[in-house]
Amino acid sequence: MNPDQELRVKPPKFVKEQQWNGYSNPPWYKKDKKKVTVLFNFVERRKSYFLQAYFHRRGYLYKDLGDHVFEDVRWGKEYGNRMQCNPLYFTSGSIIKELFQIQKETGLSKEEIAKRYIFLSGGGQCGPCRYGMYPQEYLKVINDAGFKDFRILIFSSDIIQESMPRGSAFNFDLMFKIEILIAIILADFIHVAECALRPYAKDKELVIKLLTKAEETLLEAFKSPLYFFTIPIALKKISRMFSEVPKHKLQLPRIYVTGEFFANLAHNEGNYNLRRFIMDEGCEVYPGLFTQRVLYDNWRRTREALRGIKYAKDRKELRFYRSSLRKQKVSTAVVNFIYKWLCKAFNPQAFGGKAEILDLNRLAVLGKPYYHPEIFGGEGNLEVAEALYYANSVDGFISSKPFGCMPSSGVSDGVQAKIMSMHPQLNFLSIETSGDNEINILSRVSMLLFKAKQKMRKDASLKTSD
Ligand code: SF4
Repeated sequence: MNPDQELRVKPPKFVKEQQWNGYSNPPWYKKDKKKVTVLFNFVERRKSYFLQAYFHRRGYLYKDLGDHVFEDVRWGKEYGNRMQCNPLYFTSGSIIKELFQIQKETGLSKEEIAKRYIFLSGGGQCGPCRYGMYPQEYLKVINDAGFKDFRILIFSSDIIQESMPRGSAFNFDLMFKIEILIAIILADFIHVAECALRPYAKDKELVIKLLTKAEETLLEAFKSPLYFFTIPIALKKISRMFSEVPKHKLQLPRIYVTGEFFANLAHNEGNYNLRRFIMDEGCEVYPGLFTQRVLYDNWRRTREALRGIKYAKDRKELRFYRSSLRKQKVSTAVVNFIYKWLCKAFNPQAFGGKAEILDLNRLAVLGKPYYHPEIFGGEGNLEVAEALYYANSVDGFISSKPFGCMPSSGVSDGVQAKIMSMHPQLNFLSIETSGDNEINILSRVSMLLFKAKQKMRKDASLKTSD
C-alpha cells in the first residue's frame, strides 16, 4: 500500500451541518399583549403574590402560580433530564403541572396553550455546576410534554436577549427590576414578622390571620400608581398591628438556617416548610431574607468585575468590566436604599423582628481562610462564613441544600467539618432536601432542636452559677 493511502483519514459517515442552538423561544410582540397570560412564580408564594401589582398596573393578563408543592418534583422528574438538582425539578415541574391543568380546564389544544400563555421566572445563574442550563431545561420539559414553541422569560439569562427583540410585549426594564425588588422586600418583611411572632404568640391562629391581612393591605398599597407613598403608610399600619399581638414572655433557643438559596428560602414544601416547623417545635428561627441573596449576587458580580479589570487582556475587555462594575455599584446602592427606606417605615424592632442584612465584605474576610470568597457557585463562601459569624450566638445551626447540589453538599459541607472542629459548641446539622423524604429530614431537625434546647438550658445555668 502506498504510504499516502495509509495515512489518509476516513471522512466521518455523518457530518453535522449546523450546531444545535437549543429549543426555540419565539418572541412575544406588543400586538399580542392582550392575548397572552403571564404565568409566574419565584421560589416562594409571597414574592409572586406581591409581584401581581406590577402586572395589574400595566394591564397584563397574569396568573400567580404561588408556592411550590411536592407534586411539582414528580412532574419535573417525569419530563426532565436525570441528575438535576431539585430546584430545577420543582420549577420546571410547576410549569408542566399548570399547563396540563389549563388543558384540562379549558379544553384548549397544546398548540393553543403555547400561543396563549407564557412563563416568567428567575433562574439560570445558580452555580457553575448547572450554569446556564435552567432555561434550556425549562424549554426541554415543556417541549417534551408536547407544548411545542411555548415561550419563557427568564431573568439573568442570555436567553432573554433573543426572546425580547424591539417591539416585545414585555421587557426586564428598570421599572420591572425596581418593582420585583419591592415585591421581594415586602415578602421578606412578612416573613420577618412571622418569624418574630409565631413562636411567641399566645394565639398562633391570630398571627396567621394578621399575616394574611397584612399581605392584602400591602398588595392593595402596591397596586396603587402612587405606591411610593402608599406602601410606607401601609407598612407603618401593619407594624402597629404586629406590635399589639399578645406574646408569651419566654426565652426560646435561637436557630440559624443557611444553605443553597432555594433549600434555604423556599418557605414552602420546597424545603419542607423548614422555618415553620422549627417555630412550631418551640424554637425561634432567624428569618431567611431573599434581599440578602440579591445583594450577594451583586457582590459576586462586583468581585468578578474587579478581577476582570485587573487581568483584562485588551481595552475592550477592560471597558466591559468597568461598565459591569459601575452597574453593580449602582444596583447595590439602589437595593440598600430601598431596603432601608422601607425598613424604616416597617420598624421591625417594634414587634421583635430581625431584619438585619449581613455585611458581605465582613463575611468574606471571616470565611476567607477556609473558603475563598471568589470561589463562586451556589452560595459561595456564605454558608461557611455565616457558621463562623453565628458560632457563639445561636443554639442551633442548620445548613439546608437540595439533593445533588454540588457547591453546597459537595464543597461547603466538607469545609464545615473544619469549622465544627474549631467551634465544637456549634450545634450543626446539614440536611438535603429532595422533595420527598420529609419525615426523615424533619426527624433529624427535631434531634437538633432537642440538643439546642439542652444547650440553651446549660448555657443559662452556667451564666447563673457565674
Ligand atoms: S448551586 Fe446547587 S441548586 Fe444551584 S444549580 Fe448548582 S447544584 Fe443546583
